[in-house]
Amino acid sequence: MNPQPPPENDLTQALALLHRYFGYAAFRPGQEKIISSLLGGRDTMAIMPTGAGKSVTYQIPALLLDGLTLVISPLISLMKDQVDALEQMGLPAVFLNSSLTPRQVRERLERIRQGAVKLLYLAPERLELEHGREMISSLAISLVAVDEAHCVSQWGHDFRPSYRQIGPFIEALPNRPCIGAFTATATEEVKRDIIQLLGLREPQVLVTGFDRPNLNYSVLRGENKRQFVLSYVQANREEAGIIYAATRKEVDKLTELLAGRGVAVTRYHAGMTDLERQTSQEEYLYDRKTVMVATNAFGMGIDKSNVRYVIHYNMPKSMESYYQEAGRSGRDGEQAECILLFAAGDVQTQRRLIELSVQQPARQFKEFEKLQIMVDYCHTGRCLRQEILQYFEEADAPEHCDHCGNCRNQWDTLDITVEAQKIFSCVYRMQQRFGAALTAEVLKGSETKKIRELGFHRLSTYGIMRETPLQGIKDRINYLVAEDYMHLTGGQYPVLKLAPKATLVLKGREQVWQKILRQPLKATGDSERLFDRLRKLRLVLAQRENVPPYLIFSDKTLREMAVQRPANRQEFIRLNGVGEFKLEKYGECFLAEIGWQGEEEAGSSAPLADSTLKREIEY
Ligand code: ADP
Repeated sequence: MNPQPPPENDLTQALALLHRYFGYAAFRPGQEKIISSLLGGRDTMAIMPTGAGKSVTYQIPALLLDGLTLVISPLISLMKDQVDALEQMGLPAVFLNSSLTPRQVRERLERIRQGAVKLLYLAPERLELEHGREMISSLAISLVAVDEAHCVSQWGHDFRPSYRQIGPFIEALPNRPCIGAFTATATEEVKRDIIQLLGLREPQVLVTGFDRPNLNYSVLRGENKRQFVLSYVQANREEAGIIYAATRKEVDKLTELLAGRGVAVTRYHAGMTDLERQTSQEEYLYDRKTVMVATNAFGMGIDKSNVRYVIHYNMPKSMESYYQEAGRSGRDGEQAECILLFAAGDVQTQRRLIELSVQQPARQFKEFEKLQIMVDYCHTGRCLRQEILQYFEEADAPEHCDHCGNCRNQWDTLDITVEAQKIFSCVYRMQQRFGAALTAEVLKGSETKKIRELGFHRLSTYGIMRETPLQGIKDRINYLVAEDYMHLTGGQYPVLKLAPKATLVLKGREQVWQKILRQPLKATGDSERLFDRLRKLRLVLAQRENVPPYLIFSDKTLREMAVQRPANRQEFIRLNGVGEFKLEKYGECFLAEIGWQGEEEAGSSAPLADSTLKREIEY
């Protein structure tokens, strides 16, 4: 069968479904083309950045096509959430995974056969079992949507061997369905692998814009990271955020630090048990904890829409990883901050991780190249958004975005030439044979046994920074390393070495300036009173239904609600993110809350539609 373009009225219907079920006014860039391609029966590879809205592009075709859409997704732990989200919108979806009893599986299959289900979510592992394959082959499948399709490629960053089963499985189906492959990774090798290994036939490859205008990027170099995280998190207590760290140990330490200061924090890394991770993920998704500290093991498939900031405590290994992780903020379209804290030690950590995890020399070389691009990103003075977009080959990236750390004028500059000279001079006198910690102790004038034994208490630089706190000296050293005035050697005990730039400073020919952040960045979430009240109402409803709050309404919808204050059902359904199903389910409750607020302002108070609810909410 030759794929045909879909009739015009299919696209009109697609838009109608976007209104009715998802409550969105218009398609985002690229979505319509993908839907159109799939409805025309054409194999399609869609490359969209994280958070740009891939799911809608196979969910809507699923509703319009006869038969069933199979969604293959790598994350068993999130399948329930994904399906819950669809149920919240009134979409007929189920999942099959190993958490179900045989009876539950039979019941679900029966519902599918009766045509009562349009979307079936599966983990690829199910296709490894013969009876799993047989069971699914007997269903009338019209579309297979492969989510996170880059998992099929060993060049991708999340290779998953069971993804290799998908291609042969589809080939063996009695009637070959159309295939949609979805990913945020656009490198050539990965694209080639997806097409070949999934067996896509003359696919239409659609790459949508990589820009996420509501994400504001910044890089801070040589910052005291712990201090920064503490003050940032405390200044943004109400907001959900993710902090990515490179190692499990770092995750544990940071979590402890934040918990010790009363922050509602949880953690996630591969060293925890399945149950611990599941619990932790749920606490975060359900807004019981506001901060998630995690390694890169966390996040794939997470559709928590109200993440207001992502802080990278360490530099990640590639732009792909960075963009994917940072992209987990601001899915609701509201402003979000993506902050990368760079220290020179991060480069060594990542090099070590690459050496350990990638053996093949050609691949290792590639990984090191990617790492260098990240290092360059951390040092550029140009617009950060432009850097990112150019990396993803977006041709018309503007030179200035006015929103990233390099475009926003949020810095004060401080002349630190004299301090730098003291530090360089001390490193020189210690014969460039020691690390940052001991150098800082010597500058501070600490009286330790080691310093005496080495005779450093006799150096002219001993104690010349006595007035500065020890941590402050270490921070300055880190800054000078991050700015390439010095570098740290590799190995277990990195040693400080002066770079040629430092000599010019020592000779008084160049000055050193440090950019200081004027005030801690504040996540751009407004906390109007009504918005807060609506958020509390949402939390209570979510607890009752045992679903994550953002599945009821996103922050963006609540904020719009708080600003527009719809007075009736007609106005309520006009809000972005309110479809017919949610209007029926929640309209009355939220309208009552909005109405009550209005009357409160007029000096009286009216009961909520649901009085038990009111009692449950603590104002
Ligand atoms: P991705 O899979 O590309 O990372 P999702 O499919 O999870 O992204 O979508 C990200 C967010 O954008 C979701 O909250 C989704 O509901 C929302 N979204 C998708 N399409 C639209 C649209 N046309 N208008 C408004 N919001 C949308």
